Amino acid sequence: MVGKRPEVVVGPEALPSLYRFCTRNRLQRFFLVADRNTYAVLGKTVEMELRGRDSEVISVVLQDEEIITDALTILRVLLAYSPVQCTFLAVGSGTITDVTRFVSYETGNPFISLPTAPSVDGYSSANVPMIVDGIKKSRTAHAPAAIFADSVILCSAPRPMIAAGFGDMLGKYTSVADWRLGHLLWDEPYDESIARRSLNGVRSCADAAQAIGRATPSGIVSLMEALIESGFCMTDFGSSLPASGTEHHYSHCWEMKLLREGRPSIFHGAKVGVAAILVAELYERLRQLSRGDALDLLKVSRPPLRDDEVRKIRAAFGPMADEIISTQSAFLDLRSDDFERLKQHVIEKWPDIQAIAAEVPPAERMTELLAMAGGPASVGELGLNEEDLALATRSAHFLRGHFTVRRLMEILYPGTGGEPALGTRRSSSS
Ligand SMILES: [Zn+2]
Repeated sequence: MVGKRPEVVVGPEALPSLYRFCTRNRLQRFFLVADRNTYAVLGKTVEMELRGRDSEVISVVLQDEEIITDALTILRVLLAYSPVQCTFLAVGSGTITDVTRFVSYETGNPFISLPTAPSVDGYSSANVPMIVDGIKKSRTAHAPAAIFADSVILCSAPRPMIAAGFGDMLGKYTSVADWRLGHLLWDEPYDESIARRSLNGVRSCADAAQAIGRATPSGIVSLMEALIESGFCMTDFGSSLPASGTEHHYSHCWEMKLLREGRPSIFHGAKVGVAAILVAELYERLRQLSRGDALDLLKVSRPPLRDDEVRKIRAAFGPMADEIISTQSAFLDLRSDDFERLKQHVIEKWPDIQAIAAEVPPAERMTELLAMAGGPASVGELGLNEEDLALATRSAHFLRGHFTVRRLMEILYPGTGGEPALGTRRSSSS
């Protein structure tokens, strides 16, 4: 399947298309992975239909109330698998798909994705985000051989999951802007046509925000198609850069903190959506700066001291700090002449930086869109507190080695990254 776009069917014809796909490709042995809910809404039907067509189906139904992509869940699925060549069927949302993607890849089998909710953009990607020793990491595995998403099932998915899918898409406004900044100022690899595809996806979702909030078939199909396309953008580019920027770093930071503190998890896309509003605020601040303002700020800006930065990482991430520090050498070991060159570059490219920032909608508009889609639209509505907010806005940029708006703000406002003081942020109080 390398280099070949998988077959994708989103709509009422998805399940008949799955069975035709299996017949056409002479697939007769399956290993189905689901959780209790997704087995009940879809897994059981697929299992019975395939058995009725003389296929062999082994099903593993994960029983936990909350399933995490971690070593334990992967091991559970692996233990249920008997080493015969088969096709894995991922029946569920993001976590089930990621676990199935990983185990099928490691055992040398293809997998088919049967999404049960338009909740995340990972269905069509090759990445597996997972928690290893408390740290959110990403492993490369493979994209599905095909995706069959039944629109009736998608429309009846829990509303918060639908809103989370919209939140994950909303994050493309800021991830694409971050990606463009990284390319402009840090020479990150980039592809304009993929960036446009990513932006087109979020724009079509923004146009359909109300329909998505009401879970109409047309709204849900357009959301699912945009999520699948976003996953393809990552697969085609070979990394998550087209779809993941500062807003995802904030989300990862919260996910790890909630897990560490034994607090209930929050849907990935719900966190991303709110984080995208916070990042849109950074872009707003950037837009308010004239070239003259930037010149004044850069005149007094000094490169961060390695010891200070390491101290901040240790304070924020404790036992995980060493591993995080190892990913930060490009920034921690930045020489002062390189820093001066970077500052020069920022001034020379100021009009381009402004053009990139101009493509990010104002935070107020992002909040409105998220509310229209029925999702939590503030840190408070997400169930996070001031301390969670402060950790993400001050330290999340240390989680990945990419240049983002947060890095640019750190150059313009050393030490604070332009973040307002605790308690003064408008979106944290509601
Ligand atoms: Zn995401």
